Amino acid sequence: MKIYDITLPITPDLIVWPGDPPLQFTRPYDLAQGDICTVTRLSLSAHTGTHLDAPAHFIPGGAGVETLALSTLIGPALLVEAMTATALTADVLAALPIPPGTERLLVKTQNAARWAAGETSFYEEYVAVTADGARWLVDHGVKLIGVDYLSVAPFTELVEPHEILLAAGVIPVEGLKLDGVPPGGYQLVCLPLLIPGSDGAPCRVVLLGD
Ligand SMILES: [Zn+2]
Repeated sequence: MKIYDITLPITPDLIVWPGDPPLQFTRPYDLAQGDICTVTRLSLSAHTGTHLDAPAHFIPGGAGVETLALSTLIGPALLVEAMTATALTADVLAALPIPPGTERLLVKTQNAARWAAGETSFYEEYVAVTADGARWLVDHGVKLIGVDYLSVAPFTELVEPHEILLAAGVIPVEGLKLDGVPPGGYQLVCLPLLIPGSDGAPCRVVLLGD
């Protein structure tokens, strides 16, 4: 079995959302300072790196991450490539080889090259799902949509795609690292940190192939 780790490493250089506090790593205890052990303290947004969104992110009174079903977060998934697309619109999605019944869909785009290149500054024109693309996903029964930049929605259209997906119970998994992963069918394992009430949570995400 081949295991693809499609998680962005959480390091102090990891790109954060504009306006989010920077990642901070401090060591209240440090062997190098003569303490009995090393303990790292992390300060980070719930939407750091590879993470998912809960309904509470955009929907007033919406559910937190603890309500997201593991039976959706784990299971068969399809990785498709849309390497020339500048946005994941309904038309772009309709032209991709996505069979009916696909519940977990990951879309690899030109964003993948940014992580592969080790970029350290936020890129506003990342490829993401437009509002009509979000409606297409809902209408086609997709339950989990994985994207390869830090938001499922375009920078200039953040609200509506999130609202459409989250209101329909679709789980956006954002910040996937998909360079070097061939398109095809996999078993997805996406495990968000269990933070009750949180609007998002970092995840370790892997794809299991043959
Ligand atoms: Zn998010």
